[in-house]
Amino acid sequence: MQTSKQKIMPEYVKYLCRRCKYRFRIKQGTKMALRCPNCGGNDIGKDEFDINKVINESENPMYDF
Ligand SMILES: [Zn+2]
Repeated sequence: MQTSKQKIMPEYVKYLCRRCKYRFRIKQGTKMALRCPNCGGNDIGKDEFDINKVINESENPMYDF
């Protein structure tokens, strides 16, 4: 039996640091205090940004939306 494309992938939520404007993603469901990996600040907002432009921190470049 072969499962080719239908992999279960964790969903990422995009965030934006309001302090340094750094964009990053965190796995959905992560029960962590939000912190900017760049400046360490905690003024984090959700990022309503086009996914295509967020290729900054791509630990998983295989998007399948
Ligand atoms: Zn920051």
